[in-house]
Amino acid sequence: MPGDAAVVSRRLLGRIREVMAKPGLPEDRLNVIVRCIAEELQAAVCSCYVMRAGEVLELFATEGLRKSAVHQTRLRVGEGLVGFIAAHPRALALSDAWSHPNFAYRPETGEEPYRSFLGVPIVRTARVAGVLVVQTTETRGFAPEEIEALETVAMVLAELLTAGNLIDRREQIPVDGTALVPLRINGLKLSPGLGVGTAFLHRKVPFVKQLVSEDPEKEAQRFDEALERMHTALDEMLAAEEIGKSEYRDILEAYRMFAADRGWIERIRAHISGGLSAEAAVQRAQEENRARMQAVVDPYIRERLHDLEDLTDRLMLHLMGKDPMERKTLPPHAILIARTFGPADLLDYDLSRVRGVVLEEGSPSMHVAIIARALNIPMVARVPEVVGTIGAGDPVIVDGDNGSVFIRPSEDVADTFVATVRMRLEKQKVYATLRDLPARTRDGALVSLLMNAGLLADLPMLDEVNADGIGLYRTELPFMVRADSPDVDTQTTLYRSVIDQAAGRPVCFRTLDVGGDKMLPYWQNIGEENPAMGWRSIRITLDHPAIMRHQLRALIRASEGRPLSVMFPMIAEVAEFDAARRILDLELARARRRGEPLPRELVVGCMLEVPSLAFQLPQLLRCADFISVGSNDLAQFLFARDRSNQRIAERYDLLSPPFLGFLEGLVEACDAVGKPVSVCGEMAASPVDAMALVGLGFRRLSVNGPAIGPIKAMILSMSAEDTGRVVRKAMRTSAHSLRNSLAGYALDHGIQI
Ligand code: PEP
Ligand code: MG
Repeated sequence: MPGDAAVVSRRLLGRIREVMAKPGLPEDRLNVIVRCIAEELQAAVCSCYVMRAGEVLELFATEGLRKSAVHQTRLRVGEGLVGFIAAHPRALALSDAWSHPNFAYRPETGEEPYRSFLGVPIVRTARVAGVLVVQTTETRGFAPEEIEALETVAMVLAELLTAGNLIDRREQIPVDGTALVPLRINGLKLSPGLGVGTAFLHRKVPFVKQLVSEDPEKEAQRFDEALERMHTALDEMLAAEEIGKSEYRDILEAYRMFAADRGWIERIRAHISGGLSAEAAVQRAQEENRARMQAVVDPYIRERLHDLEDLTDRLMLHLMGKDPMERKTLPPHAILIARTFGPADLLDYDLSRVRGVVLEEGSPSMHVAIIARALNIPMVARVPEVVGTIGAGDPVIVDGDNGSVFIRPSEDVADTFVATVRMRLEKQKVYATLRDLPARTRDGALVSLLMNAGLLADLPMLDEVNADGIGLYRTELPFMVRADSPDVDTQTTLYRSVIDQAAGRPVCFRTLDVGGDKMLPYWQNIGEENPAMGWRSIRITLDHPAIMRHQLRALIRASEGRPLSVMFPMIAEVAEFDAARRILDLELARARRRGEPLPRELVVGCMLEVPSLAFQLPQLLRCADFISVGSNDLAQFLFARDRSNQRIAERYDLLSPPFLGFLEGLVEACDAVGKPVSVCGEMAASPVDAMALVGLGFRRLSVNGPAIGPIKAMILSMSAEDTGRVVRKAMRTSAHSLRNSLAGYALDHGIQI
């Protein structure tokens, strides 16, 4: 492209602005615009393809190709270079288009003389609406600035096509004609529970009307002012009493730092100096961000991009003079619908009215999912096209247990869900009446029911459900949401507050269990092929003993002389447990030397998650004070079944001879030496599984707070000895699963599962 990229882009946008300002039919304007593009970029050809129903790209306007090909030349998504760009929505620049494997020659266009090719997708709200192409006769490459300029123009075209009704959003999504009928869409379950309510579309940012600017300097100034306002507003939010003290603060701190990211700000500034209005420049940066989001697999980076998406919305509202922090008035039973949610968004709403959240994007480790789980708000993510499919006020049901969303459900479906929700509420009342009873089986076996937690927000439930203590405190969250590792003081304050809030009930802290899919922001993603079996958990902390030392130091300090319980995750051999224990001893010695109070009582346990460890039980039981079975990871390794792979999630059952056989041996070995053994994986929270565990001899189960009631009700109605006999007998068979037969046994014997 001749001349400075920003100058050419500005001149081109100026010409486009003039075209748009004059009256005219959208198709006529499009013809003039492709001519302007060809002239300004000194290209022989400029063509615009528009996405039509059935995922077909149709030539809509051209300068340089034969006019008779307009509305005749059509390419399927994936077909030819144009289809290729639509399928992999990013720019494609080729000095010799004919030698590209995807090139599809279309004689009706008369494109024989043209060799080089530059095409960019026309993207609108994360959907490909068309493809814009320039071609030249000479064989030449394209500079990044030229690609950039064409992308800017493509964005303006996206708006023109929409405003002129040349594209219909529904043509880009395969829901043709089904817009108002009941729909069930499956997604990813991020937070369990059932929510019934009406759709509330989260922060709909109004469409940008003024795309092209007359005065880039003025736009840059408007942008700077809006940015400033956004920063001030975020600072105020952080300073707010209730946020300042909560652990959400960490999440919001990271988010605020992100808002100051130079790369993001500079990109927007560059778009403004290229001739876009401040709003259009922000929108352009958002489209780029969304395109990146679709390509990124690294969960940490994806989360950051979600945050950025949310920040962009906020910034846009500041630019438009609207207040993004404005407390939203929700309908009494609201289901929030959004493409994605920033960490602060959920907390902005009146939570007493929120019944569920449905997102188009999202991953299990996204911050808002962690918060939704802590607040018991059902949440389903990765629901395709949900924002375009649900209208504000539509009835919606979120089934967070099964990852389904029912939109405009039929009366029958709605009635069934309402009845289920009611029944669950009734059951909660029954569970509440069991609160003060010990969890004792009919034949007198006492089971200790403990709670799993990972957030301060989980702790009030400890007393609500009257759990015996916390059997698993996952310590990784504060490490995951910060830009750097929390220091000893920060950790001490947090752990102290956990112990304080537990008010005398024991808390078992698990040391840092990150890696695998829980990558930390400040460590490079090391790109392992099998992260679940890779450098994670205790392997990381033993390799970086300073992290372990700081965490253990903080735990010792936080205990302030009170009892302390610690356990180490992912131990594969006793030598690893010994090494971790030695680090703990070093920290105890350090505290002693410095005259700091030591825990009055210290118990040090080991998680059993890696099967190899079970072959060293005698040695392990000599040095560990207790064992806790992490059934989620244990099942992953025993069955060689990746726990995050949905395709094989149901393939093996934990209620099966091999898994129960493994546990039976373990519980016998622990009983023989009088060492406590518990189960703290998800298995313990399922009543029928827990029934089998108690039958096999487990007397400690650690489950999420809401599961305590149902598990206690089950225990009160079972006989440990009778069930044990039945389970042991069934285990000797070669059945794939004992689930049905054990559920049948429970029903026959009035056991509440
Ligand atoms: C487990 O693996 O069962 C467990 C409790 O640990 P996490 O789910 O945190 O890996
Ligand atoms: Mg685990």
